[in-house]
Formats: sequence, structure tokens, C-alpha cells
Amino acid sequence: MPNKHFCQGPTCHEKPTTDRFLKSRGVVRGRYAYATIDATPNQYGWQPHDSDKFFCSQSCKNEWLNKNMECVRARTVVPFINHRRESQGYEKRTTEHEGWNGSTYNSNSIVSINGTDNWFN
Ligand SMILES: [Zn+2]
Repeated sequence: MPNKHFCQGPTCHEKPTTDRFLKSRGVVRGRYAYATIDATPNQYGWQPHDSDKFFCSQSCKNEWLNKNMECVRARTVVPFINHRRESQGYEKRTTEHEGWNGSTYNSNSIVSINGTDNWFN
């Protein structure tokens, strides 16, 4: 996907959600930012905030602020992330559950192969 920054969230590439998971390599990858770099106002005049050009979500913005505000205050450099980060060692696991009327349904989760379960949908 062109014309977007990668999300600057410090742990964006460590969150095991299904949309970050790349099955062929078993990795979780950081997302692109929410908005395109050159986003223009839509027909109603609405335009994404500038911060949406650097983060995929509010939680990634907050994590960045919590981690880096002291660097901003001290005028030290916060590295800009311009490559796609990734974390290795994940797999998709499907679990079958029993529903209220005896039927079954499945849920998927992306889990770390060496143990930690992280449930999302
Ligand atoms: Zn993010």
C-alpha cells in the first residue's frame, strides 16, 4: 500500500491481531497509519488529523506519547519508523466452542507459538 507511513506505535508490530498476521511467514507485522500522507478534505470538509498520518489507532498514539514525551521535552531524537517491523513466531489457532443450543461455532486467535495466548475474535 503506497502513500502511507508505517504506524509509529512502539508495540504496533507486537499486537497479535488477525489483520496484522501474515500466515505464510508466521509473523505479526506493524500496520500502516490510518490516513494517507496527502489526505485532502472529503466532500463535507472533514479531514483526518495530522496524527492519523503517523498512527493506526488511538492506542498506538497514546503508547508513543507515554514512551516518548520525555524525549520531546529533553529535545532528544525519537527515531522515525520507516520500515515494516515484525515479530516472529505466531500461528493462527481455531478453537471450536459449544453454543447455547448445542450447536458449535469457531473462533480464531493469533497465538505465540511459544505459549502466550492472545484472544481477539
Ligand atoms: Zn499502530
